[in-house]
Amino acid sequence: MERVAVYPGTFDPFTNGHLDIAVRATKLFDRVIIGVAEENYKDNLFSLEERVSLVREVVKGYDRIAVTGFFGLLVDFAVANGAIAVVRGLRAVSDFEYEFQMSLMNKKLREDIETVFLMTSSEYAFLSSRIIKQIASLNGCIDGLVPPLVEAALRRKFASKGP
Ligand code: ADP
Repeated sequence: MERVAVYPGTFDPFTNGHLDIAVRATKLFDRVIIGVAEENYKDNLFSLEERVSLVREVVKGYDRIAVTGFFGLLVDFAVANGAIAVVRGLRAVSDFEYEFQMSLMNKKLREDIETVFLMTSSEYAFLSSRIIKQIASLNGCIDGLVPPLVEAALRRKFASKGP
């Protein structure tokens, strides 16, 4: 039986920390589906369509990673895709409380879906989409922290927003 996992997130935008988690998850699962959440309660820089197409472009060389946008409950998305697990990344203790709560709630909603946490790689431990947006908005260097096409998209976005 094929073992499928979903890796959900807002990915606003997708960073090398996210890519690292997705690629490492393919060592544990046959197929990893990156679920780009609509998250309409968050003030996103990129639209859902932009985020999905950026992530797709970044992972196009990885044949066991797929990308889809999703609305609604994560566990419903997981079940609809035949997943047995949800993958999440953990950076610091500060991630833990929220992630712990979410995983318990998801377990309550769907007992058969497990949440699997992968620890960040040390080089990305400080990396978040929020910090990337802050640095990019101030024209700082984000080399090596996001895929080059994400960096280009950030530069275009902030150039079009003006100073
Ligand atoms: P959220 O789903 O909370 O909006 P993100 O879209 O930023 O979060 O991230 C999706 C998942 O990837 C989360 O589990 C988050 O903890 C994890 N993640 C984000 N950045 C990193 C990183 N640098 N290293 C490891 N995991 C990360």
